Amino acid sequence: PVYQQARFIGSATKLSNAPVDQGLEIAFAGRSNAGKSSAINTLTGQSSLARISKTPGRTQLLNFFEIDSERKFVDLPGYGYAKVPVAVKKQWQQMMETYLQERKALCGIVLVMDVRHPLTDFDWQMIRWCEHAGLPLHILLTKADKLKFGAAKNTLLKVQRELSQVSIVITLQLFSSLKRTGIDDIHQILDQWFQF
Ligand code: GDP
Repeated sequence: PVYQQARFIGSATKLSNAPVDQGLEIAFAGRSNAGKSSAINTLTGQSSLARISKTPGRTQLLNFFEIDSERKFVDLPGYGYAKVPVAVKKQWQQMMETYLQERKALCGIVLVMDVRHPLTDFDWQMIRWCEHAGLPLHILLTKADKLKFGAAKNTLLKVQRELSQVSIVITLQLFSSLKRTGIDDIHQILDQWFQF
């Protein structure tokens, strides 16, 4: 129920104009179109919360949502746009790396992947950054409704195997915003990271 209180508090183009680095923060990352906005909306029970992050001009920003005075969600810019200029990509990489390395409040990353296209190059980059920063990672394999249960489960196991070489705590689960499945599982992880 606490996640339903999430409200947008502001955007930042870079770390220096982000809200003060205090309390606890959980960041959401994912390739564009993976289903990140839908997942944020589903797990907060708010049908249009993450629309803010899709507003033109705000897509390349860090968007902050307050859960309570000590806890925030951060929607990180979606990555993997095919046509972005190299300079923009560099800038994005720089910002993400700095944020993941230096943000003290950051206590975990939720990485959203389309269950049909898991572990893209961009996902691996994010995983390596989390590993480097020593951050726990929770992977949502979303759009699970698009596969038969057996196939979705196989993907889960396959991804789990491929991640066994990574030296941070990684949990993963199937999720569907459409069918609203997997919500309790992610709530449990968020509760743990947020020390509820
Ligand atoms: P984002 O770019 O990662 O924020 O992705 P969106 O949340 O905007 O979703 C991209 C597309 O996938 C939209 O057309 C959504 O309706 C669709 N989508 C998102 N989540 C699900 C899901 O769980 N199941 C299905 N079938 N479609 C989904």
